[in-house]
Amino acid sequence: MEIVVSGIRPTGKLHIGNYFGAVRNFLKMQENHQCYFFIADFHSLTTHPTPTDLHSSVSIVLAEYLAFGLDPDKSVIYLQSDVPEVTELYLYLNMNAYKGELERVSTFKEKAKTQPDNINAGLLTYPTLMAADILIHNADKVPVGKDQEQHLEMTRTFANRFNRLYKTDYFKEPTAFTYNSKLIKVPGLTGTGKMSKSAGESDCIYVGEDADVLKKKIMRAVTDSGPQKPNSKLSQPVANIFSLMELVSEQNVIDSFKNAYADCSIRYGDLKKQLAEDMEKFISPYRERIKDTLENKQLLSRVARQGAERARESASQTIKEVREIIGFKKFY
Ligand code: AMP
Repeated sequence: MEIVVSGIRPTGKLHIGNYFGAVRNFLKMQENHQCYFFIADFHSLTTHPTPTDLHSSVSIVLAEYLAFGLDPDKSVIYLQSDVPEVTELYLYLNMNAYKGELERVSTFKEKAKTQPDNINAGLLTYPTLMAADILIHNADKVPVGKDQEQHLEMTRTFANRFNRLYKTDYFKEPTAFTYNSKLIKVPGLTGTGKMSKSAGESDCIYVGEDADVLKKKIMRAVTDSGPQKPNSKLSQPVANIFSLMELVSEQNVIDSFKNAYADCSIRYGDLKKQLAEDMEKFISPYRERIKDTLENKQLLSRVARQGAERARESASQTIKEVREIIGFKKFY
């Protein structure tokens, strides 16, 4: 069975873009792959979270993923910091990762520009830590978004370089997981591109969103001044509302609003009210489940422990073999 590894940054609540764009695919993947899903809490230290914030962000991600249906009996769900073997492999990979190539990584260059006061070594070596996350389980596939493609390419470079240095074929060269269904882009509520936390709170619909906040956000979603003549083209913000409806509304409901748009009888207030109702229907079971899971400390602890044990089984085997390849020999 192919091994899939995917990391999740503990950056707080997940929005419906994360759900439809990533989590829904994870649910399919866990049925026929050996999946390792980890919460990347080492990675998150580049931004220096407080101890309280760190723990609460990790708890939220863990609870949300369980509430969405990631199954700890099918997949290995663990905290990166529970697997210290990752840091050892990170150290070995860093010995053959060069300053120049790390500085050329586009996410590093961007971060260096946006946070010039905090260009730390952790940020620079983000790709070697990511490579360690993947290679520690000798993964075949990694589900990556466009922004991570360059990191995955570097993982292959580091795996290959290790293999050449030690004249071995130990590490596989992992490739991007391609879903059968095409990748979707969920738009946000502010009328621009894809739903994203960086576009602000009002752009995002969180899967655990409170009912009244959800309604307010959707009723305030950006639209336009209405169709000026029959059969006119949808503007971007209105097309976004329809795209969101495609995720949660019945087709006949969508069709009737599209017809109303075409003959200029549409009222955006009604359109948004409908979207708010349908989104509420979609979200409400998750909202309850997320809350219950977050409060169930026993469940979180059992899942984290089981995940840590299973992840360490695989990771410690890799480290044992990598140490032999490198040439560490015990004197005792
Ligand atoms: P982020 O934490 O924003 O990098 O998101 C994690 C993952 O969620 C991404 O790699 C995408 O697969 C998915 N994702 C995030 N935002 C969207 C969106 N608006 N539409 C579709 N997928 C998304």
